[in-house]
Amino acid sequence: MVQNDMLLEIKALKTFFFLDEGVVRAVDGAEFDLRRGETLAVVGESGCGKSVTAQSILRIVPPPGRIVEGELLYHRYAGANGASSAAEVIDLASLDPRGREIRTIRGNEIAMVFQEPMISLSPVHTIGNQIIESIRLHQGASRAEAREGAADILARVGMPKPSQALDSYPFELSGGMRQRAMIAMALACHPSLLIADEPTTALDVTTQSQILDLMRSLQADMGMAIMYITHDLGVVAEMADQAVVMYLGKVVERADVRTLFARPEHPYTRALLRSIPRITEPRREWLEAIQGMVPDPYNLPPGCPFHPRCAHAVAACREGEPPWIEVEADHWARCILHAG
Ligand code: SF4
Repeated sequence: MVQNDMLLEIKALKTFFFLDEGVVRAVDGAEFDLRRGETLAVVGESGCGKSVTAQSILRIVPPPGRIVEGELLYHRYAGANGASSAAEVIDLASLDPRGREIRTIRGNEIAMVFQEPMISLSPVHTIGNQIIESIRLHQGASRAEAREGAADILARVGMPKPSQALDSYPFELSGGMRQRAMIAMALACHPSLLIADEPTTALDVTTQSQILDLMRSLQADMGMAIMYITHDLGVVAEMADQAVVMYLGKVVERADVRTLFARPEHPYTRALLRSIPRITEPRREWLEAIQGMVPDPYNLPPGCPFHPRCAHAVAACREGEPPWIEVEADHWARCILHAG
């Protein structure tokens, strides 16, 4: 695994949805980065902007949403498997979302897997044809080479009888096998970044853990970076090196995973961590829900967006955006409690 090489820098990203009812600031100044081979979890409740951040990177934000500000600096390394240490830097935010350059990057260099495999698998084509087409499109391989590559990647994702699976349609496979087929399709072109949006949420616990094991071993083999988009802190603890916590479109905390679990510094992160069920505790203490509701997206509160739900809120929290503070080395939180 290559360490300490920048792969993606997200700078002051704003992605808004312009609806008749008003403007939804789905991503509102998000800022973080990802290095080659690293596993980063982007965590938060639904509606916090984590999936829209992923869609922004791939330039697949559905209308009426669009990137209104910020940079998405993708570092492309040359040579076999990106072996070079010098990178060409491309601002994904500045590309035409339907243009040739982003289509070359999407699926080839940055791939994505979703919670629901049928989003990326076509029901009317065999698994084999879909993976073969992806390899041919992105790598210009011959059909025979692509078929060989497809069987190889299906074997690597643990598909039983991979040559036979090539000729199966998605509906002929179980949920877990469809998930493996989707991962195979995403990995067929050896991307440098895999974005996984709640990839195991719909699966039973056993299959979930098999898929996570599989992704971990494929990552070790292939050296790609993974961005996990998840609300599941169990997945974060098991899979990620670094974590970013988002709330209402903003990054509120960032740290390596061990530090985040040991010393969460933002009240929202602390509440999220307290909401994890613990099998060692009596049932009545299992879930401490985060108090209050997520605010109306058309009408966000002024100041710190968490203040209506925060037990520590003071008058100043309602006035201005809290500062982004390094509370210890490489551990950042956006909260007034740490100012001064
Ligand atoms: Fe709570 Fe204020 Fe910190 Fe926001 S800035 S999390 S309201 S203490």
